[in-house]
Amino acid sequence: SARRKVAVVTGANKGIGFGIVRGLCKQFHGDVLLTARNEDRGRKAVEKLEKEGLHPKFHQLDITDHQSVVRLAEFLRKNYSGLDVLVNNAAIAYEFNDVPTPPFPEEAMEVCHVNYFSTLDVCQVLFPLLQPHARVCNVSSINNQISLQQYSRAVQAKIKDPNITLDGVNALVRQFIQAAQANKHLEQGFDNSAYGMSKIAVTLMTSIQQKELDKKNADDVVVNSCCPGVVVTDLWTGSGVSIDKGAKTPLYCALLPPNVKTPRGKFLINNKIYDW
Ligand code: NDP
Repeated sequence: SARRKVAVVTGANKGIGFGIVRGLCKQFHGDVLLTARNEDRGRKAVEKLEKEGLHPKFHQLDITDHQSVVRLAEFLRKNYSGLDVLVNNAAIAYEFNDVPTPPFPEEAMEVCHVNYFSTLDVCQVLFPLLQPHARVCNVSSINNQISLQQYSRAVQAKIKDPNITLDGVNALVRQFIQAAQANKHLEQGFDNSAYGMSKIAVTLMTSIQQKELDKKNADDVVVNSCCPGVVVTDLWTGSGVSIDKGAKTPLYCALLPPNVKTPRGKFLINNKIYDW
């Protein structure tokens, strides 16, 4: 018999990730894993969707805990022999809410660690499980563009280099973190946004991942990044749209039809490619 398909959403106990799980439960043909770092919050979120007649399954995942990522991979291998949809949604920010902000050196380190390096780790552990026609959506932000425009010409040139490698991205993020420790990030051509740097890295990572998959002749595995728009959540406490509206573009990326020619490796806003 055919294997049962499975989708994974990170950071899905609340916010846009929760909206993405709700949408996948309605539209994806297979099991949907609602993952959360905190088991209690995750199970409560599953119960909430159960009351709507939807049936996501819970699995613990703290993206900053490598063993937790490995446990999820083992679970997927054992129960599904693979992975069909991965939505890397989990992230943190201090810039758009009332969460007390640590000093900038710490903020730069923590935000880049969670939003970029930990997302990269999830990809490195889970990508070997991706099945033919698998879809990956890395949730990024228009803040990639906002920060990029503030950067020096020299830093912009590095980011816009079409031949930038993953090592190059990692080195750039490390340079930003180190510069922040010495309060030299502006001097070195960056801006004051740790979140912006982390989302630039996620967006660059996405296009590199698609190129690497294509080089390996992966069977129609498609990776895109996107901005969900301005969405009212605990991360963004200003005005904005609902989590279900915010889930629209991530869902579009996660559910792209088989053998789609475009978008592949791109950054999307409102279901459209955005050349940032
Ligand atoms: P929320 O703060 O509402 O939700 C973030 C989710 O990520 C929570 O479930 C949180 O879990 C989880 N999370 C944080 N750290 C970890 C971790 N180490 N491991 C696993 N999960 C973790 O934010 P949003 O819903 O607004 O954000 C979702 C995505 O959308 C993010 O990538 C964000 O950058 C992006 N985005 C959001 C915009 C907006 O307007 N809201 C605009 C542009 C992009 P917990 O409850 O345990 O903290």
